[in-house]
Amino acid sequence: MRVRARVEGTVQGVGFRPYVHGLARELGLAGFVLNDAHGVLVEVEGEAVGRFLERLPAEAPPLAQVERVRAEAIAATGEPGFAIRESPAGGRPATAIAPDTATCDDCLRELFDPADRRFRYPFVNCTNCGPRFTIVRGIPYDRPLTTMAAFTMCAACRAEYDDPSDRRFHAQPNACPQCGPHARLVPDAPGDPIAAAARALAGGAIVAVKGIGGFHLACRAADERAVATLRARKHREDRPFALLVRDAAAARELADVDERALLARERPIVLGRRRPDAPVAEAVAPRSRDLGVMAPYSPLHHLLAADTGFPLVLTSGNVSDEPIAYRDDDALARLAGIADLCLLHDRAIHTRMDDSVVRGRRLIRRSRGYVPAALRLPGSAPPLLACGAELKSTFALARGDRAWVSHHIGDLANYETLRSFTEGIAHLERLLELEPELVVHDLHPEYLSTKYALERDGVETRGVQHHHAHFAAVLAEHRVERAVGAIYDGTGYGPDGTVWGGEILRGGLPECERIGHLRPVRMPGGEAAIREPWRMACAWLAEAGVSAPLPGVDAARWADVAALARSGLASPLTTSAGRLCDAIAALCGLRHSVTYEGQAAIELEAAADPRETRAYPLDAELDARELVLAVAADVARGVPVATVSARFHNALADATARALLAAGERVAVLSGGVFQNELLLTRTTAALEAARVRVLTPRALPANDGGISFGQAAVAAAR
Ligand SMILES: [Zn+2]
Ligand SMILES: [Zn+2]
Ligand SMILES: [Zn+2]
Repeated sequence: MRVRARVEGTVQGVGFRPYVHGLARELGLAGFVLNDAHGVLVEVEGEAVGRFLERLPAEAPPLAQVERVRAEAIAATGEPGFAIRESPAGGRPATAIAPDTATCDDCLRELFDPADRRFRYPFVNCTNCGPRFTIVRGIPYDRPLTTMAAFTMCAACRAEYDDPSDRRFHAQPNACPQCGPHARLVPDAPGDPIAAAARALAGGAIVAVKGIGGFHLACRAADERAVATLRARKHREDRPFALLVRDAAAARELADVDERALLARERPIVLGRRRPDAPVAEAVAPRSRDLGVMAPYSPLHHLLAADTGFPLVLTSGNVSDEPIAYRDDDALARLAGIADLCLLHDRAIHTRMDDSVVRGRRLIRRSRGYVPAALRLPGSAPPLLACGAELKSTFALARGDRAWVSHHIGDLANYETLRSFTEGIAHLERLLELEPELVVHDLHPEYLSTKYALERDGVETRGVQHHHAHFAAVLAEHRVERAVGAIYDGTGYGPDGTVWGGEILRGGLPECERIGHLRPVRMPGGEAAIREPWRMACAWLAEAGVSAPLPGVDAARWADVAALARSGLASPLTTSAGRLCDAIAALCGLRHSVTYEGQAAIELEAAADPRETRAYPLDAELDARELVLAVAADVARGVPVATVSARFHNALADATARALLAAGERVAVLSGGVFQNELLLTRTTAALEAARVRVLTPRALPANDGGISFGQAAVAAAR
């Protein structure tokens, strides 16, 4: 019996052919395997063909993502033996490039084995691990079109690369100390550069470290002075710093993190509740109950973690809100004022890539390690580009039933970021050989992503409402056709020209209707109300008929802002749940101004007493005036913030569940950035599940605007 099988998915450059070769030989089958334009083509002949087809997807190598195997019986040829054949020339390489992947156990053993020729070599990798997407300049995925082109393999590396039974067979970034990239320290120091960097870190230095997707800034996490200096030089006032630890045991001393996530091959930053005695400086994560912890993801980071032996701050190499530096010259210039030393290497990074962030199994930021793995779309999309939103922006390309969501790009209002958005689109279009026939965008006319979409020549364009995109992303991921959903976030453009963000939607992918929302209030001064949450407190109190200022706010300013809210001048109406959280945080006296969006709400959640079960009044119509008055009264009576915060969260969760249940649907979606609030999410979910409603939340993508591009693609495909 002879079978021809087509394997589709991420199956090239991941050790798939040697794997097939080994499996066929083990089962005593004849035939061949080759890479072609569609993925991998296999023909096998012999007794065990059935067992081969069973085991083929099940035992695939770690980086392979087998999406489909199509097998057909063909006439036997009687050929002897099994061979790996050359790829036929020409044709479109439709196969996907794998994400960058953490060092595998085999490479790790070599890295720390004094007898191995790659002992302490910071660039050890194989077909099962190492850099991928960040070093690719073009297709086909072959060494000359990666940033490894500058390095010629030595005889020993070449032999591995050519040997189908070797774990480095066709491993494009294969290298060794004789022929590959090298690390160096600036300014130069004698001896091993990583050991020297580790010594400097122990002595309190700040070191810029070039990684896989860009530069980080590192210092000793327990060193109060070094961490405070880093914060001051980086102009990063409050946002928590991530930490690098050697292994899971070291992570356990810092925070209660999900170890499976910590050691997953994507190697994200994992958020978890900090231990009260965590040995880190106060300035690492001021006023935060959580710490973000990461295990080493490249051999260089493994060496650095081993050589230091203590937790390191490892935060993005940038100043304030700029994108992370990834080119040597740029990093040396931009980080010169921040870092005392720079640990560089001479393998270029082609695509900038931030670290991914997860909490448990929920993604907060999907980037390095995940991108560019394809996500499934229901239905079939024409070749399209979805441009996403504005903050936490991503874009997505789609064709047929697959969508490729880009890495986290960040706030497009920054010139550098906007450039990486446009360059990123061009790059991924080239890699996927995808020419969009349709470009999808947000309805917000001022988003730079919308402007970019409308300026693309010769394509059809289509707008998708922001919260419908949030809703659709979850429906598409879970392959559900119809649901009711609460989409709570900071800001999204509503078709009525107001700022939406506390929406109850019902419907499906092609269309949905708005069946409820938070009561609208003014955002006094527009954007200023995002930076200064006390303005939202003022607007809500004015809405509820109260004019007395909050303690700590100048009475004249309060009166001005209240007048703005009454007149509506430069003060758009908003139904934003994020802004309501801001108002409550300000009423509690937690925060009158913020340095990043969502800060007040995050601190409000952190303050909540989880044992408090009572709730403020809030009906299913989501009119929060009575709630705001109750909060103000409790604060005035001296009720602890922990209690007030918990009663607010309980009220919002219960009212949201009631509003959703009133729609009479069996499935409910909870998404939008505000649902990154664990307390709100858990409580709302519990109330819905108690009423036997199935609750869907985003899994493969974040609940925040990082998921918008996928939702836009899903809506466009469904339409
Ligand atoms: Zn490896
Ligand atoms: Zn070599
Ligand atoms: Zn949003």
